[in-house]
Amino acid sequence: MFIFKETSRNAYNNDRSEACFRKNFYRHFKFNLPHADAVDDVLRDLSPEQLETLKAHLVSSLIEQKLFRKYRFLGQYHLIAVDATGIATFEQRHCEQCLTKTSKNGTTTYFHYVLEAKLITSSGLAVSLASEFVENPAGDDFQKQDCEQKAFVRLSAKIKKYFPRLLICILADGLYPNNTVFDICDKNGWIFIITLKEGNLKTFNQEAELLKATARKRTVYRANKTSRKTLEYAYLNNIEYGKRCYSWVECEETIVYVDGTSPSVQRFVYITNIPQTNENVMGTADSGRLRWKIENEGFNAQKNLGYELEHKFSRVSYPAMQNYYQLLQIAHMINQLVERSKQVVDILMEHSKQTIVDLWKKLIAYLTMFQCEESIPIPYQPG
Ligand SMILES: [Zn+2]
Repeated sequence: MFIFKETSRNAYNNDRSEACFRKNFYRHFKFNLPHADAVDDVLRDLSPEQLETLKAHLVSSLIEQKLFRKYRFLGQYHLIAVDATGIATFEQRHCEQCLTKTSKNGTTTYFHYVLEAKLITSSGLAVSLASEFVENPAGDDFQKQDCEQKAFVRLSAKIKKYFPRLLICILADGLYPNNTVFDICDKNGWIFIITLKEGNLKTFNQEAELLKATARKRTVYRANKTSRKTLEYAYLNNIEYGKRCYSWVECEETIVYVDGTSPSVQRFVYITNIPQTNENVMGTADSGRLRWKIENEGFNAQKNLGYELEHKFSRVSYPAMQNYYQLLQIAHMINQLVERSKQVVDILMEHSKQTIVDLWKKLIAYLTMFQCEESIPIPYQPG
């Protein structure tokens, strides 16, 4: 269902009910398609940990095959972006673990969101390493709802369990610069590049502001046909916070357009535990900026490019909802690799209008319509 970007259980069942589709599917994949209701029964019973473990094994094998090797930061650290996204909202309580929000007029909504750690690359891959659901404990005897920060403690333990020796650089947004996160990274031997917003880490920011005039700087110019870009990198080392010292990194990007459009200026500031030098400051700031790929190539692709992340695949069962989520992550990982395979890239290059969305439509059309001459006996399929 997710690999074919079928968008719902019903759409999957409709294709499955076509004899031609079943026959072609069996011819290529050598197994039968179960009814979506049968799958749903299994997913309600299956512990979500099982699929999470399977996903971790699949990612580990890709890492072992050195698929992400050339994208590592400083030649050794895999970039792992951490961020949360909403997956479902309900008007009525959906399960005991639902998070709740009550509006001013007294209406309560029930919702679920998940904290993700995705391995990202500058080429645009966003592969789920581990997922942690932000969830309330069963029963109603808890003081405070679960939140992204608490989920990060559990997520990091999961990453360490599944990838104990992986060299990791954590990328995260302005919710993450705090001692809990710094301690976890320190304990696990991870490096980090975390966005600093105004209001974050007051004493750290104050000291950086005071010393800013003395910061080491590096400027880079890039130009193309439509614009000229100036990137000004600056850094400071040994700024104390808590019991440790960190580095401060700033990148100011100015883009001047040839056609006279008003110039755009953006400023990015990071805190990192990697001591900065003239050699690594550009790589640090540029890697920090790759964080947005978890939102774009990750969440946005899963919500809007055929995977329907926010579709309610299970309205009644919390384990099933988590299992659909894990299966979606695995399918998205497989498809990202397929979409970059030589065969698919060659088809996309044939003419400029050919898109991935259109290619997947043709794939379904082929499976549904193509009448194969040879007779293939398909084993009995119930339902
Ligand atoms: Zn729920």
